Amino acid sequence: MIYESIIIGRGLIGSAAAKYISQSQKNVALIGPDEATALEQQIVFASHYDRARIQRIVGKDSVETLLNFLSARQHTELEKESNINYYVADGCLLVTPDDSDNYSSQYKEEAKKFDVDYQIFNDASQLKSFNAHFHFPDSAKGIYEPAPSGHINPRLLIKAQSEVFKKNGGEIFNNTVKEITYQNDAIKINCVDDETFYAKKVLLAPGSFVNFLNLLKNKLFLKVKSETTIWVKVNEQEAQRLSSLPGLLYKINEPEIQDIYLIRPLRYPDGNFYLKMGANLPNDIYFTSLQEIQEWFKNGHKKDNRPVLEKALKSILPYLLIEEIHEKRCIVCYTKHGKPYIGPIEKGLYVAAGGNGYAAMSSDALGKIAATLLLENRFPAEFSAKDFEPVFETEAV
Ligand SMILES: Cc1cc2nc3c(=O)[nH]c(=O)nc-3n(C[C@H](O)[C@H](O)[C@H](O)COP(=O)(O)OP(=O)(O)OC[C@H]3O[C@@H](n4cnc5c(N)ncnc54)[C@H](O)[C@@H]3O)c2cc1C
Repeated sequence: MIYESIIIGRGLIGSAAAKYISQSQKNVALIGPDEATALEQQIVFASHYDRARIQRIVGKDSVETLLNFLSARQHTELEKESNINYYVADGCLLVTPDDSDNYSSQYKEEAKKFDVDYQIFNDASQLKSFNAHFHFPDSAKGIYEPAPSGHINPRLLIKAQSEVFKKNGGEIFNNTVKEITYQNDAIKINCVDDETFYAKKVLLAPGSFVNFLNLLKNKLFLKVKSETTIWVKVNEQEAQRLSSLPGLLYKINEPEIQDIYLIRPLRYPDGNFYLKMGANLPNDIYFTSLQEIQEWFKNGHKKDNRPVLEKALKSILPYLLIEEIHEKRCIVCYTKHGKPYIGPIEKGLYVAAGGNGYAAMSSDALGKIAATLLLENRFPAEFSAKDFEPVFETEAV
């Protein structure tokens, strides 16, 4: 049997693309591994094994803002269609330690174009009167975006996209692809357990893993990086006390820590409440092989990053009643131009990968762009192929 289309990667972009492709095509499959319960069994990992991702609207430029805007607009409809609630519009606060990067003037222009509501804070005392729990240095500036900014549950967002995909007749396979080749007029997909699929068209959406195994002949220029977060266990009363905290992006830039993100305590599948905080750290690892990634997920850093993250957390939320802190490992990847790669690779084969640490909030629109490309060989009118053009290692000098 030859599928019309197969999407490889059941992550945030792949599941969105699969939904959109299945709206127009029959005979579509989505292949990717379930989240393993034991790390040892896992071959590839993902950026979505988590409970919360920040959704905001204004991005670095108009393309990013449009992607966020369109994706956020889909949440209500997708929740209704899938009967899965994954989105809470509880706002997002962006804080810079000072105004040195002139972020707020650029922000205002961008917000105006998209008619986004916001509130500006010019110093720490204004930030304090907005939310008394957070503490920032005196020179700090802030911008608050109310709803539709907020947070999404990435596992449930994928589930919601997949439910709609299945309703449309799509088939899901729990497998990991190890090789893509051509056979006659079809694309042959070989999985690690030797199960084989054939398709007329294939969309590669395996996130940080696109260059590993034998999915691509020519490797994409992609920086794949370890990401360390801390999950801070608090009791239910403490979670309740902090329930007014919006998602926080704190553009701190110090030698030992940069770019903090923090999401208030939420109830996780184990029944406990955890506040999550992550950041870029000097000992983040840039991976060059799948073995290095497997080693990182299974055994982590030699250096314990918790003390640095805990110190930063205590400066932001000094009165937080912590019960326990544990470290959680994740992975992100960065493209050459800062936008995901979406484009054709060779006959019938397309790619949509490279989240740059922000593709949960824009995944629905990214999936739609990839679906339009695969189905109609064009980009949606409001986007340009140039912005998403895949860059290969050999070209990236
Ligand atoms: C700690 C952390 C915090 C983040 N916070 C935010 C945030 O607040 N807001 C935001 O917008 N973004 C955030 N991100 C980024 C966001 O999660 C990613 O950009 C997004 O998940 C990328 O989507 P993707 O579909 O490309 O990759 P993924 O979501 O990682 O999905 C890729 C899928 O492909 C599968 N796969 C891989 N290889 C194969 C193979 N060979 N065969 C079959 N399947 C395969 C994987 O198992 C996975 O399911 C964060 C990321 C991390 C790690």
